[in-house]
Amino acid sequence: MLNTEIPWDTIFSILQEWHAELRSSGTELPSVSALALEASASQSNKETKQERDAEKSPSQAWIVLVSTLISLRTKDEVTLTSSRRLLAHAPTPEALLGLEQEEIARLIYPTGFYRTKAANLLKIADILIRQYEGRVPETMEALLDLPGIGRKTANLVLSEGFGKDAICVDIHVHRICNRAGWVDTKTPEETETALRDQLPLKYWRPINWLLVSFGQHICRPQSPFCSRCPLAAYCLRRGVTKNR
Ligand code: SF4
Repeated sequence: MLNTEIPWDTIFSILQEWHAELRSSGTELPSVSALALEASASQSNKETKQERDAEKSPSQAWIVLVSTLISLRTKDEVTLTSSRRLLAHAPTPEALLGLEQEEIARLIYPTGFYRTKAANLLKIADILIRQYEGRVPETMEALLDLPGIGRKTANLVLSEGFGKDAICVDIHVHRICNRAGWVDTKTPEETETALRDQLPLKYWRPINWLLVSFGQHICRPQSPFCSRCPLAAYCLRRGVTKNR
């Protein structure tokens, strides 16, 4: 299958249908997307800007930045509860700066590397207040300058936090796109570049949460469920030696 022949519309329609069925069974979205969706719904329920500002509710970009940082090397369920716990105490960078590092570490425990993440969160809050008037910056360059933030987090903040067209390639997106033969790359950065060249713009944002869910439930890292995979007809199964 040549890259130019990949039927993206069909693939995304299958993925969206599969995901709608999954959600109707009560399964949540991947943690960061679930938190971003909650924030977006809560913002649109407030009628006026004054009402939104008065409550000092966390901005969507702050929620995505904090929860994506917490999610690194951490299970989805833990990310969800730890992020909600921290954001309840630190809905803004100012509020976070008012907490001790130990307190932040305690709130996000048991996420992986919770002490390092607590230190980075404090540094980030300080930079946002000093350089960006307490707001999360909207450019890739500025986001990459923040401590502990790589391309994956920056792309997720741009797409889920600001609604911009960005492709967030994590381990699931990288693995599935290569297994299927849609790209032929060695690193997530190369996958992002390859997808930018061929994926229609309308799929840049949804590819992350759709393939993260798909990777957690069907195309698992070890022994994927190929026998019940709705994308089997569009997959070359490259490098798959064991499947169910
Ligand atoms: S056929 Fe198997 S390897 Fe291919 S996408 Fe489906 S689960 Fe993954």
